[in-house]
Amino acid sequence: MSLPTTSDLHRRVTELLTQLGVDIDTGRKAGAGDIALRSPITGAVLTGVPADTPADVRDSIGRAHDAFRAWRTVPAPVRGQLVRELGELLRTHKQALGELVSIEAGKIRSEGLGEVQEMIDICDLAVGLSRQLHGLTIASERPGHRMMEQWHPLGVVGIISAFNFPVAVWSWNAALAFVCGDAVVWKPSDKTVLTALACQALAAEAARRVGAPDQISSVVVGGPEIGAALVDDDRVALISATGSTRMGRAVAPRVSARFGRLLLELGGNNAAIVAPSADLDLAVRGIVFSAAGTAGQRCTSLRRIIVHRTIADELVERLAKAYRTLPIGSPLDPRTLVGPLIDHAAYEGFRAAISAATGADGGELIVGGGRVGGDEHGEAYYVEPAIVRMRGQTAIVRAETFAPLLYVLAYDDFDEAIALHNDVPQGLSSSIFTTDVREAERFMAADGSDCGIANVNIGPSGAEIGGAFGGEKETVGGRESGSDAWKNYMRRTTNTVNYSSGLPLAQGVEFV
Ligand code: NAD
Repeated sequence: MSLPTTSDLHRRVTELLTQLGVDIDTGRKAGAGDIALRSPITGAVLTGVPADTPADVRDSIGRAHDAFRAWRTVPAPVRGQLVRELGELLRTHKQALGELVSIEAGKIRSEGLGEVQEMIDICDLAVGLSRQLHGLTIASERPGHRMMEQWHPLGVVGIISAFNFPVAVWSWNAALAFVCGDAVVWKPSDKTVLTALACQALAAEAARRVGAPDQISSVVVGGPEIGAALVDDDRVALISATGSTRMGRAVAPRVSARFGRLLLELGGNNAAIVAPSADLDLAVRGIVFSAAGTAGQRCTSLRRIIVHRTIADELVERLAKAYRTLPIGSPLDPRTLVGPLIDHAAYEGFRAAISAATGADGGELIVGGGRVGGDEHGEAYYVEPAIVRMRGQTAIVRAETFAPLLYVLAYDDFDEAIALHNDVPQGLSSSIFTTDVREAERFMAADGSDCGIANVNIGPSGAEIGGAFGGEKETVGGRESGSDAWKNYMRRTTNTVNYSSGLPLAQGVEFV
């Protein structure tokens, strides 16, 4: 496996940031008070970026609040022009931003570009939406009265995002927030600050072009304590936070304590049921992409297969064969399908889960699990995606391990498959491979999958922007991107207008 050198990456990052309009000193050493930014490709520090303080966060929120007060009275279709410009800039800079995503988050080139395409798609959706933020007209029980709903801008939206979708998740939130009349303050993962600064430069340019307030979009840099400053500030009307369940447990009570609005997108433990009638060629392709793609570091990555016992051996054998030929290496090499884990902690989590599953839990390691190149690559962690065949759904299988580790469980009866499927704390995405229409429909029915996303004959990962994205149970129930997710970013008023000369009271109440 040949990797670029850290100085090659550093030079390339400097070029890309210049192209994207980011003005920072990439020669800065990571000193005290700085975030040390690494590329998982080599594991070495690329540059230091100064971290913000809680006081800086409060200043950003204050400026965003001023921007909101001006922006909320701009007609929504005019606000849409900001997002149209942002979409155009993203089209122009798709290659550069996609490559920066690959360098900073370790995604293979095609997935880095796919992430930017997802940003363009949500911009397109939001521009159309800017002419469709409509409420209902409701029949009044009182004569000469009319009732209606209006949707109004909400305020400042605080976005907290995870490392694994370093740019798309911001855009899901920001594109909708901007057309809804809100301002945005974004705290990206402290592992992916450069891509965030690039998005911010593009948003600032879009704002300049259309004459929107320049503080409509801002970025604050730091770790959980900087996220907490955003979470605790009652000028932030909505906190939209994406990340681990651990993060959600810390954030939710703090936002609730001040009666703020909360949109949480937390961890998943996504499964695929493979039924006896499944098209196995299609299932194998769908499973390998969902489980090993993005090195298992998607919230929707496939982590469990629940396969009918009669086809379990054949499926496992075919998957193992496919896994053995997966090209692992630098995500910048166009032949690579599996890039690096984000860092040492992710590698430790991968190894610990395999040990637990194959130790006391009695699982059998079918393929993978090793570190490619051993210690040769220092702080860069490339692993062979692993499959472990389990006898039961033990505690380690029920936990999310954010790495390419796929557990296989067998079932005999379809009800048992659904029960196993749902017997985990998380509820993000799910899928079934079957050609039996009864099984497919049952899987999507009320007593089927309990997840926010339930797919048939595709894996659980790779959602489109048009649908509402999110999960249930410990994934928590927030919905982002398409469908009616925009309602999270607005407040609703119900208006009743009396155009008669009488004053009839609702429910026939008399008061004279
Ligand atoms: P993480 O929870 O470690 O961090 C996510 C973000 O939360 C970061 O910006 C982090 O700095 C911030 N944060 C952490 N603790 C905080 C606190 N106490 N207060 C305020 N902010 C805090 O997650 P990660 O390792 O970056 O990403 C991987 C996790 O994210 C996985 O669990 C994955 O399933 C989940 N994820 C979920 C979705 C989804 O849509 N459901 C999407 C992407 C990632």
